[in-house]
Amino acid sequence: MGLLRNSICAMALSLFAASAGNAATLLEPTLHLKPQGAEGRGRVALTLDACGGKTDTRILSALVDNRIPATIFVTGIWLKRNAEAVEIMRAHPDLFELENHGGRHIPAVDTPQKIYGIRSAGSPGAVQAEVESGAAALAAAGQAPKWFRGATAEYSPSAIAMIRKLGFKIAGFSVNGDGGSLLGAKETARRIGAAKDGDVIIAHINQPTHAAGEGVVQGLLALKQKGMTFVRLDDAEGVGNDGTTD
Ligand SMILES: [Zn+2]
Repeated sequence: MGLLRNSICAMALSLFAASAGNAATLLEPTLHLKPQGAEGRGRVALTLDACGGKTDTRILSALVDNRIPATIFVTGIWLKRNAEAVEIMRAHPDLFELENHGGRHIPAVDTPQKIYGIRSAGSPGAVQAEVESGAAALAAAGQAPKWFRGATAEYSPSAIAMIRKLGFKIAGFSVNGDGGSLLGAKETARRIGAAKDGDVIIAHINQPTHAAGEGVVQGLLALKQKGMTFVRLDDAEGVGNDGTTD
């Protein structure tokens, strides 16, 4: 009995610690498309993050020239600094779907902590502000986002619930194409080129000086060569885990 009481005490203490603002367990949700199966040679969704910084015109030109559709997750910061690229994307509504990557590229984690060195939003109110300011920046650019992807693509479970309540689906992924734009061209091309039917690829379109961008283009052309079809998130039934889409 004493042992039982002690373990209940320990449980109560750990619950208290969690509610007192300790670092939350983070989720990195996945997203898959319904596989096409035997009917075709497969389809994938290419998602590209524009976190801040500039535009990788190697990727943007390759998408336009090869008619490869993509879902671009943009922040308010990036939208402000990349008017020319936004213009090109808006001129090709059949290719580009612009979605919400937050107002200021702050991780959608409602407890104070650092993720890959980036300070989290830190409170429910700050997560909400990040999501809503990103949506407002897109609305000002004539877009109506339906998907959200937070900076670092990691979330606290309670932040996921809140973002869903705000009306957004959360865009996980199944293939990490460029390792945060830090991989070399060869490895990036290998990862993207290996995507299978139903995969959702994540890579970056805001690092024009990184070798990874060259690999993104090579990988995409390899997939196209194999007869893979590219779809945007709006055009496919994406199914995520951790309560991100249902
Ligand atoms: Zn980002």
